Amino acid sequence: MTLTASSQPTASASASAPPPRPDPAVVDEALRRVQAALDAAFVAIEVEGLSRSLTRDVPGAHVLADLWRHGARGLREQVRAAPDGVIGTNRLRGERGGPVCGKLVAAVVRDGARATAGVLVAARTVDQAKLGPAESRTLTELAVEIGRLLAPADSGMLSWTAFKELALKHESIAGGLSGCILYGDVDQLHVLNKLAGLAAGDQAIAAVGEAISTHPMPQGAAVCHISGDRFAVYLPKASLSQGRRTAERLCQTVSERCAVITGLRTRLSISFGVASVPPADPELTQALAAAEAACRAAKDRGRSRVEVYQDADLSIIRRNDDVLVAERLREALETQQFGIVAQPLVALSGESDTECFELLVRLINDTGTFVSPAHFIPAAARYQMLVELDRAMMTRVFKRLRTAHKEMPGRAVRFSVNLSGPSIGNPDFLEWLSSNIGPSSVPGEWLQFEITETAAVADVSQTQTLIRHLRARGAQFALDDFGTGVSSLAYLKAFDVSMLKLDGSFTRDLLTDPRAESLVRGVAQLSRSMGIQTVAECVETEVVRQRLTELGIDRAQGFLFGQPVPLESILGAPGEPALATPR
Ligand code: C2E
Ligand code: CA
Ligand code: CA
Repeated sequence: MTLTASSQPTASASASAPPPRPDPAVVDEALRRVQAALDAAFVAIEVEGLSRSLTRDVPGAHVLADLWRHGARGLREQVRAAPDGVIGTNRLRGERGGPVCGKLVAAVVRDGARATAGVLVAARTVDQAKLGPAESRTLTELAVEIGRLLAPADSGMLSWTAFKELALKHESIAGGLSGCILYGDVDQLHVLNKLAGLAAGDQAIAAVGEAISTHPMPQGAAVCHISGDRFAVYLPKASLSQGRRTAERLCQTVSERCAVITGLRTRLSISFGVASVPPADPELTQALAAAEAACRAAKDRGRSRVEVYQDADLSIIRRNDDVLVAERLREALETQQFGIVAQPLVALSGESDTECFELLVRLINDTGTFVSPAHFIPAAARYQMLVELDRAMMTRVFKRLRTAHKEMPGRAVRFSVNLSGPSIGNPDFLEWLSSNIGPSSVPGEWLQFEITETAAVADVSQTQTLIRHLRARGAQFALDDFGTGVSSLAYLKAFDVSMLKLDGSFTRDLLTDPRAESLVRGVAQLSRSMGIQTVAECVETEVVRQRLTELGIDRAQGFLFGQPVPLESILGAPGEPALATPR
């Protein structure tokens, strides 16, 4: 039994559209859960247009059903008037002065817009145990869950056709100022479905839909539940950075919602891709495909992220087709049409005795310019090319560092290279990597590997094996994009890492969001006490650098200190001195 959200949006945004009638099968399933949770002989719900009940075949239960038949309306009024939306009695009587015939709790059911939609009732017979505050709490929680089911995720949202028409109407009168499409996809829904069942997944979608549709939007904006866990937002006359800001706010709003899964509250999250609407796109297909590609890039880098689709990179993604991108990538790896850039991880307080650089891969396109991995990693992931990409990158890194080490064996430097999830679990790759690290090749001390929190926890024991093997050769490990995945500091204990890289979203929000600041401070303190260095990513301004220093972060990386530059400019062409770099 699933509580499936409709695959095609049905509700129109017009306020006059009648609320959709809840699916009786869905309501019955929810009632069964209420009955089990409260061990109730009788449970019932009455919401707009629907009244359902379940009666156990036990003595006294049918009296309760009779009472409900006659007294539902009055009970509903009483609950509606109760200050906290719940009432209860262990002396339920059919009439004033009559015999006690049961025990009852009743809770108000509110819809997605928090309006009172009905009442949920659980009753026990005289022979059953008393009801108390714990039962009232349980029923209230279940009423909240049911309320979410009653308000489908797409309520208050446009159908795709209406969404498209509205967007195109705005585009035709935009006077040269095009709008943006935001494409959102709920994070890790498959995990939720697997752990807590499809019904929980559907509840999560409904809660995300409600969060998006009730979020304040600029005038003329439109929201659509495309299908399943996919949502779209249209912003008229909006730049890409306005689109990014709105998407970031939506991520924040969604992250404040929880799904109650078998009694446990679980934070929800969504990732967004943002793209402009191009001039001639009568079906919005190009805009949507570009936003979708950016969303995949966002997901690839963790949860609750936003990526913007940049037109400048259209030369590699001529069509939004992963097959073409994967083909282009394969060709580039075979013909060595890729480069390595490096970005310093600068020590924030005082001089460090070791220089540190992150090495990043770049494809070289037909015009000789660099293309960021954000544009080809999703395709590489989909076509299982990540191990190949990491191997090509590491082959080049080993080759270049071997020469460099011969020329300056005493240089205190560390190069930090990204490893993708599939590489972590690939034993051949691990063996190959180990065999290339050592005194006769590249010393382990010169190397660090960055693994994202999400990839690291996918298979904890595999990650631990990798770390153990490579640490034995002197290499170090960093937990990358920290804060975007499960964000559990407990993993610092599980994984023997010497560096923690705080995701750029915390750096960006540092001066405006007190919670980002608390998290940065907490992580800095805890990491320091564990002997783990902290690095803040995406540091772009001097004031942020200062704040990070005050909060006790050890290093910073970002455009403030420099864009990533070709590795050669750090190592110097073989035989030439290297440039001086910040430490
Ligand atoms: P990452 O590991 O989080 O790398 C940092 C990214 O942030 C880089 O993007 C870098 O150019 C960018 N960045 C640095 N400073 C700033 C700043 O101040 N502001 C902003 N907005 N961005 C900044 P890049 O190079 O496009 O890499 C994107 C992602 O691709 C990386 O994220 C990493 O996950 C992946 N990646 C990069 N190179 C490799 C590689 O060789 N192998 C694998 N498996 N993944 C790679
Ligand atoms: Ca990284
Ligand atoms: Ca990172």
